[in-house]
Amino acid sequence: MRLFAKARESWENKCHRCGLCCHEKVIVGDSVVYDLDSYCPHYDPKTHQCKIYLQRLEIEQRCRRVTRFTAMFASYLPETCGYVQDARKKHIRFAPRRKIHFARSSLPSGDEDSLSIQF
Ligand code: SF4
Ligand code: SF4
Repeated sequence: MRLFAKARESWENKCHRCGLCCHEKVIVGDSVVYDLDSYCPHYDPKTHQCKIYLQRLEIEQRCRRVTRFTAMFASYLPETCGYVQDARKKHIRFAPRRKIHFARSSLPSGDEDSLSIQF
């Protein structure tokens, strides 16, 4: 039991707590675009933390635990994600590398600054 808790803690510690996976996102070609203005109702944009972390899977239907499988295959996770980096290091990341873009849906459409390229 203790071993299980330790393994779980070590897995969770791979997360950088960036909160990007809690934002609305869309895959466009070889990029994934994160909307900085639109996110899960349980996400706190000031701290980048989940406000219901321990109960998130019971409370929020759309929330998904990041598993080894997700780390291997989920295209929506950014390359900067700790789980993705771990999977890349172990050569078990099979999703294509995608550039990360940030959008701001609260800005008027057509605003040149509404989409900024990160890398
Ligand atoms: S419930 Fe899930 S998706 Fe929503 S903020 Fe918490 S961790 Fe993120
Ligand atoms: S994108 Fe990855 S590192 Fe960032 S909060 Fe989500 S799981 Fe953690």
